[in-house]
Amino acid sequence: MTRILHRQIHNSYPLAVGGKGVEIFDADGRAYIDASGGAAVSCLGHGHPYVTAALHAQADRLAYAHTSFFTTEPAEALADRLIEDAPSGLSHVYFVSGGSEAVEAALKMARQYFVEIGKPERRNIIARRQSYHGNTLGALATGGNEWRRTQFRPLLVETHHIDPCFAYRYQQPGETDQDYAARAAQALEDKILELGPESVMAFVAETVVGATAGAVPPVADYLKRVRAICDRYGVLLILDEVMCGMGRTGTLHACEQDGVSPDIMTIAKGLGGGYQPVGAVLLGQHIFDAFAKGTGFFQHGHTYLGHPMACAASLAVQDVIRRDGLLDNVKRMGAHLTRRLGERFGNHPNVGDIRGRGLFIAVELVEDRSTKATFDPKEKLHARIKREAMARGLMVYPMGGTIDGARGDHVLLAPPFIIDAPMVDAIVERLGDAVDAAITGVK
Ligand code: PLP
Repeated sequence: MTRILHRQIHNSYPLAVGGKGVEIFDADGRAYIDASGGAAVSCLGHGHPYVTAALHAQADRLAYAHTSFFTTEPAEALADRLIEDAPSGLSHVYFVSGGSEAVEAALKMARQYFVEIGKPERRNIIARRQSYHGNTLGALATGGNEWRRTQFRPLLVETHHIDPCFAYRYQQPGETDQDYAARAAQALEDKILELGPESVMAFVAETVVGATAGAVPPVADYLKRVRAICDRYGVLLILDEVMCGMGRTGTLHACEQDGVSPDIMTIAKGLGGGYQPVGAVLLGQHIFDAFAKGTGFFQHGHTYLGHPMACAASLAVQDVIRRDGLLDNVKRMGAHLTRRLGERFGNHPNVGDIRGRGLFIAVELVEDRSTKATFDPKEKLHARIKREAMARGLMVYPMGGTIDGARGDHVLLAPPFIIDAPMVDAIVERLGDAVDAAITGVK
């Protein structure tokens, strides 16, 4: 009997004992194509020899040194690399151990920034419905996924949520992308004015929404408008690229494709590719300067900040992405995956939308294509698809729909950047069979 409190207590899980390339192997010798990179993490797949060699070398030299005593070579080198490749204006890095920690640090950084510059009245956070920013209390308060939040609400700091930019569900029939971008961004300005601009600290958004709504990119111009609104009212823009960042969308940072730089950006998952737990906050020069000219101290910290093993793994992962030109492969294979999904599901009566960027693609399921009516959430179609996919040796990342039509059940695909066309074809074939079998179970 397991002594682990697994998330789904009554499920039994295969015992993963190995991984090579885009596959994971269980103790019974079954292979699973990792079409979701776990949760959009494993960007180089499994057992990459360059990364494991870097980890061995770092473990032999120095596995750990507390950041209140030392800085380390891998942490300094990784920070240099991240800033070299960062969106304009981002000048410094704060290392943490994962995505939720990155969001927590970003929120505290934003708050302390305003205290440092003598504007302590700025405390309100605006974020969006249908978003996920992590499971720790500050990050959970910021996210707009009600299923995750409901029972913890009494513990959550008040956050103000506006509608997301989610064309399939929120764009009106006949509304142009330009008009929709303007309307979706206007919701931010309205909320700032309602709260009082002098009280607003930050607007937090995933550049491409991941775990809650499923690979939802913003429509053209939305983020530019958001940037302009934040600038107009002195509000910090925090882009959460924990899931969509570090190459997943075909550029190192998803916001490059929107022509926008945030004041603060969170990254994790693909940063270390799963070889170590790691995340980071990238911050603008103005934030750094406020701290440097003020108290000279960021009132935050964890034991494993800037962990040398985590930084060495991340640096190796980023080396390989650069050395092997993997962002080009993300673009090529992303286009191939989208094309193959279109062929398999384009006329499927229960597939409402295929969307995403790069190798970050979701398929949204609906009961009725013309009305976009969702399946009854009680049927847990997403969980059925996951089960059927696992039975066929395929890992996909599922999320349930809502009854009010805010989103349908969907599966997220985020395979490793090293994937080739035959593996993409195998994913689409297995997913097609899994979706059909799961829907047959519901009807
Ligand atoms: N932010 C986003 C956009 C995420 O997708 C996630 C995780 O899925 C998180 C934050 C939290 O990251 P972690 O699970 O590493 O704490």
